[in-house]
Amino acid sequence: MNSQPNLPVPKPAARSEPAFVPNPLRLVAAPYLAKNQRRSRFLWIGDATQPVTEIEITPNLSSRYQIPRAADLPVVTPFRLKILHFNDLHGRIAHLAPEGNIPVFSRLVFRYHQQQRKYADNPQAGVLLLSAGDDMVGTPFDALVSEGNHPYDLYQALGVDAAALGNHDLDLGTHALAKMIQRSGAFPVLSANLMPPAQLKKCVYPAALLDVKGVRVGIIGLTTSAQMKGSDARNLTFVDPVRVVKNLLPVLRPYCHVLIVLSHLGYDLHSTSATVEGYGDRQLAAQLPRGAVDLIIGGHTHHILNETCLDQGNIVNGIPIVQAGTLGRFLGEVTITLRDQQQPATVTNAKLSVTADLPVDQAFEQIQITPIVASLHQKLNQPLGIVANHPDLETDAVLNDFASHESAFANFITAGMVAQARKKGYAVDFALTDAAVVRTGLPTDNLVYGDWFAVMPHADTLRLFQLTGEQLWALLQDNARRANRCGEPHLERGFVQFSGQIRYQIRLGENRAAARATEIFVQGIPLKEQLAQTFTFVTHSFIRQAACHWERQFQQQYPAIALFDLDQQPSKDTEILLREALISHIKIDGGVTKAGGVVRDGRLQIDDI
Ligand SMILES: [Zn+2]
Repeated sequence: MNSQPNLPVPKPAARSEPAFVPNPLRLVAAPYLAKNQRRSRFLWIGDATQPVTEIEITPNLSSRYQIPRAADLPVVTPFRLKILHFNDLHGRIAHLAPEGNIPVFSRLVFRYHQQQRKYADNPQAGVLLLSAGDDMVGTPFDALVSEGNHPYDLYQALGVDAAALGNHDLDLGTHALAKMIQRSGAFPVLSANLMPPAQLKKCVYPAALLDVKGVRVGIIGLTTSAQMKGSDARNLTFVDPVRVVKNLLPVLRPYCHVLIVLSHLGYDLHSTSATVEGYGDRQLAAQLPRGAVDLIIGGHTHHILNETCLDQGNIVNGIPIVQAGTLGRFLGEVTITLRDQQQPATVTNAKLSVTADLPVDQAFEQIQITPIVASLHQKLNQPLGIVANHPDLETDAVLNDFASHESAFANFITAGMVAQARKKGYAVDFALTDAAVVRTGLPTDNLVYGDWFAVMPHADTLRLFQLTGEQLWALLQDNARRANRCGEPHLERGFVQFSGQIRYQIRLGENRAAARATEIFVQGIPLKEQLAQTFTFVTHSFIRQAACHWERQFQQQYPAIALFDLDQQPSKDTEILLREALISHIKIDGGVTKAGGVVRDGRLQIDDI
């Protein structure tokens, strides 16, 4: 019989209450908005990603805000709160049509001013104007951002009450965003589920509290973690939005007659217009206590909701959800009615106004918009030089053959990336790019800024990677599998083109699994002799991101072959815009020229035998 050794009996762990960790949110007064709009406005500062334990009121707030509960504040009821909202403007403050500039933002301004005038002397009604995020990036107006021209300035001038932080608002990097918000002074940008890095701590807040004629309106901002393209934005931490709203509810609710979530999460997890991660607004509403907030104003997925009236299908768990399309085509209008203070606020109406049908606020158009559009036209018409005569620069070649063979256009782009990265002090060995960064070809004669913007409308920034020679070998083998094969359509497969420092051959073989990269040379030396060496290369932030769909299909077809995942490699982001870096390169040689790199030099040979 085996004797069991006497094991020491573990002592039961001492039962202890979880330690109380104080995490107050501080309520501070925000500066006034535009001069004509002395609405009291407050910001909640602190960490909403942890349970919030109390509200701390800064002593300099007026006695009115020393009263902790909204219920004790007398409000003249019934009160109608009119909320105008837009989302995903992407900087499109005007539509640049061939026949001239068609006003967009000034029409929203007209409606806002009209509503303000209508309710100005009515103590039982007030107006708010909110943006649900993605205020910038994605239209030619991006060309002006580097000169300090961006929508937040206009919002500040107009008196937009708050905006949620959208994923594209981070495309240009957190430093650039911080600068834009600071320049706009009092304009509040909200995101409660972002753990803000140091540079955003004093610019992005979890929530705001607005006082509209004595009615307190709480606004919680939320940001999707999806589609973070820009430089350091990918390294940001976003916390589960349901948890964050639940952290805030018990402490904010008593302060608010009306509580709104201003969300850039996207409408629904199953949306196809943009990637929604974790929760869409529908899933968020379903997870909150019933009716916990009075309204979710959404964005990100460009949904056109409640065109004529509040659709019952957009009320989830007692919480109405609204969203107003994209690019300023619609202005959302919601009415919230406060019948008396004993009853919760109710959304009594929601609809969309078609922006094109609204009159233009001529004063705003002339003073604020016209100068911006004029400088945009000037910028877009800025001559950049000549265009070399090469078939690879034509739109037809760009759209069909970018991944079929060596491309003189890709060679120009990678040469420019190497030169500009080195000029900025980054010791790079080579560059790579993919077709997703190039949207069209070039004109056949002279090049203006607008032509180059059409080629690269995305806000990619330069990104640096390090690979060992062995990893580079794996990357090249992987690349061979992504090349266009005879008779197949050009899909976005993430095929990368290299700068001239890399020369190799691709043998396509009988199928993608059999494709091989061979005869690989780096700086004229066989890669085989440099497998232990570390190489630094420069690429751009959105590299291979458009290839996810094809990658999933490939993995299903060839589960034994691991694709090379660039995102898993150590990388460093810069805030250098690819488009602007290449414009600097273009200017050096007076255009897109052979001297700048428009040449096929046999660095890549694809052999389909
Ligand atoms: Zn978005």
